[in-house]
Amino acid sequence: MTFRVSSLLSCSAILMLVMRFTAAAQSAPAPTSSAPPVSETGLPYRPSLDITAMDKSVDPCVDFYEYSCGGWKKSNPVPPDRTSWGRYAQLYEDNLALLRSILERAASARQRDAVDQKIGDLYGSCMDEATVNRRAASPIQQQLEAVAGAKSMRALAPVLARLQMEDLNGELMFGPGSIQDPDNSDQQIAAVDQGGLGLPDRDYYTNDDTKSKENRARYVEYVQKIFGMLGDSPAAAKANAEAVMHIEMALAKSSQTRTDRRDPYKIVHKMSRTDLAALTPNFDWDSYWKALNPPPFPIVNVLSPDFMKQLNTTLAAESLENWENYLRFHIANIHAQYLSSDFETAHFEFYEKYLRGAQQQLPRWKRCVQLVDRGLGEALGQAYVRQVFSPELKASTLKMVEGIEKAMELRINQLDWMSPTTKQQAITKLHAIRNKIGYPDRWRDYSSVVIKPDDFAGNIRNTTVFEARRQLNKIGVPVDRGEWLITPPTVDAYYNPQVNDINFPAGVLQPPLYDAKMDDAPNYGDTGGTIGHELTHAFDDEGSQFDAKGNLKNWWTPEDQKKFEERTKCVDDQYSQYVSVDDIHLNGKLTLGENVADLGGEILAYIAWKDANKDKKLEPADGLSPEQRFFVGFAQWDCANERPEQLREWAMTNPHSPAKYRINGVVVNMPEFAGAFSCKKGQPMVSEKVCKVW
Ligand SMILES: [Zn+2]
Repeated sequence: MTFRVSSLLSCSAILMLVMRFTAAAQSAPAPTSSAPPVSETGLPYRPSLDITAMDKSVDPCVDFYEYSCGGWKKSNPVPPDRTSWGRYAQLYEDNLALLRSILERAASARQRDAVDQKIGDLYGSCMDEATVNRRAASPIQQQLEAVAGAKSMRALAPVLARLQMEDLNGELMFGPGSIQDPDNSDQQIAAVDQGGLGLPDRDYYTNDDTKSKENRARYVEYVQKIFGMLGDSPAAAKANAEAVMHIEMALAKSSQTRTDRRDPYKIVHKMSRTDLAALTPNFDWDSYWKALNPPPFPIVNVLSPDFMKQLNTTLAAESLENWENYLRFHIANIHAQYLSSDFETAHFEFYEKYLRGAQQQLPRWKRCVQLVDRGLGEALGQAYVRQVFSPELKASTLKMVEGIEKAMELRINQLDWMSPTTKQQAITKLHAIRNKIGYPDRWRDYSSVVIKPDDFAGNIRNTTVFEARRQLNKIGVPVDRGEWLITPPTVDAYYNPQVNDINFPAGVLQPPLYDAKMDDAPNYGDTGGTIGHELTHAFDDEGSQFDAKGNLKNWWTPEDQKKFEERTKCVDDQYSQYVSVDDIHLNGKLTLGENVADLGGEILAYIAWKDANKDKKLEPADGLSPEQRFFVGFAQWDCANERPEQLREWAMTNPHSPAKYRINGVVVNMPEFAGAFSCKKGQPMVSEKVCKVW
C-alpha cells in the first residue's frame, strides 16, 4: 500500500508536499540473517558510509551508482513481499521492528496511560486475526445497506457524504476536504477534488498500449471477484464490474493529469456553493452538505471543474442501479484490508502482486504497525521519539540545516541568471523558512477517538472519521503552522511551500541516513543533500509561485522565469534520455522538479560541508579521500533494487527518478565529483553539457 498524505483530497492535490522519497512506507521484508549490531536506541546500527555496500571492481567514472551500491545491490535482492528495496526502505523496516516492540508492550501492559491504551488496543485488535476472519464482511454491512436503501439519485447524496468520511483517498466519486486559501495563506477554505477511481491514476484508463489494456481487463476481473464475494451471481458480478469500469472510464477521461496538477494555478477555482451547484445540477448538494456537516463556508475551491462537469453528466447517464453497484464495490475495496482474509488477499493479489509485482503479502504485524502509524501516528510517535531522538541529535541536525540554508543564501547571491529584485525576494523567503526537526511542538489530541480491544474494523473507521473530521474542521480557521503532515517515525522529509517550512521527522535522521558516529563527509553527502533538496523546492518553479508566507503569488520576474526554464530544459532533456525499464523512458517533465532539486541539493550540501570543516584538516579513510567519502555517502542514500513492474508504474506516477538516475544524473553535472575521482571528459560520468540551475 502506498503512503497517503493525511487529507481527504487525493495525494497529488498536495502537490506542495515535495518529498525526497515517497515510496519508503510501501511495505517491508523480514530482516536478513546477517543482522547488524543494535544501537542504544534499539535500532540496528548501519553506517552512513558502508564500504561493503560498494563494488570497487566498477570504475566510478563509468557508473558511479554501481561503484557505490553494487555490493549492496547484490546482497539485497527485493524481498518477496516488496516491490522495491533500498536503504531508505531498510531503515523503514528497522523502524517497523522498533515500533512493534513499543506496540506489543502497549498492547499487553497492565498499567497503561490513555495513549498506550489507544495504540496498544488498535494494534491488538489488528493482530486478532481470528476475530477479524469470523466477522467476514459484516463490518461493511451497514454501509452496503445504506446504499441499497437509497431509492433515487438524490437520496444517494447524503449516503455518499457519510461514506466519504470513512475514506481518506477520495475513492468515492470525489473527495471533499479543506485546503489552504491560495490567496490568503493564513486561512483554510473548503475544497472538492476529483477522485472516484479504483486504479492508481487516470492514465491507467486513458493509455492505449497493450499493458494498459491488460491492466484494465485485470481490474474488471478483480471488481467482478469482489462482487462475487459480496454475494452476486457470476453473471451479475460480471455485468456490475463492467458498469463500474464504464463509470470510472468517464471520470478518468475528464480528470486532470499529474503533470497538470503540478501547476498550482490549474487547481485553483474558487467559487460559491451556488456556483458549484450550478456546475453539477444533477447532484443534491443541499442534502449532501447537510449530511457532511462541515463548518459554514461561503467559498469552495473546486480543484478540477472539468471533472465535476463530467461527474454531473455521468450522474444522469448512468442508472441508479449502476451507481449503487459502483459504491458497493468501492466500499468493499476501501475496507478490504480490514475485513476477513479473502477480501484482504483479493486486494493484495490485484494491487500489490499484479500491478506492482510483490510476490508475498507483508506479515500481519507489519501491516498492523503501519495502520497504527497511519491512524494514531502522533500517539505512537511520542513513544518513538522518546527512544530514538535525543536533544543532542536534534541540535546537531538543526545545525546542519542552518548550514545548508547559509549555503543557499550564498548561491542565490552568486546566481548569474537571477535578477537583483528576485534575489531580494528569495533571500526574504529564505530567512522566513521555519525549520521543523524531529517531531511537533504540540502533539495531536486523540482523546475523542474510541479504540476497543476487539473491534478492528470499527477502530479503523473511528480513526479515519477522526482524521476526515479534523480536515473538514479546518475550514474557516487559521492555518496551524506547527502541524506536521507526516508522523515522527516516517523515513522521509518534505518542504511545504504553502507554509514555507522544511520538515525532517526523527525517523529520517537515523543511521544510515544520518549517522552521529560517522564523520561529516558522508552525512553531508546524504542528509545534507536531502536538506538541500527540500530547500531548493522553496525557490524552484513550484516554490517561486508561493511567497514567504505561502500565498500563491509569483515573486519571479518573467525574465527570471524564462532563464530558469532555459536552465531546467537542460535537465529535462538529460533525464528524458534515460530508460527506466524495457523501452520506457523517464518522463523528463514529470520528474523535472525532483531532478533539479536532487542536483541543487547536492551542490548546497557540498558547499555547506566544506564550510563546516574549513578549519579542519580532513583525512582519508577506508581508502577514500574526504571528497570521495562525501560522494559515496551521497550515492548510498539510495542504494536500491526495483522490480520492473514497479519501475513501469513509477514511470507514469512518480515525480522522482529511479535510484540509479537520482545518483548518476546528479554527479555527471558536478565538476567537484569529476575532480574527486579524477574522471576525464568523454567518460560516462562526465556530462558533455553540464546542467546547473542552483
Ligand atoms: Zn523533492
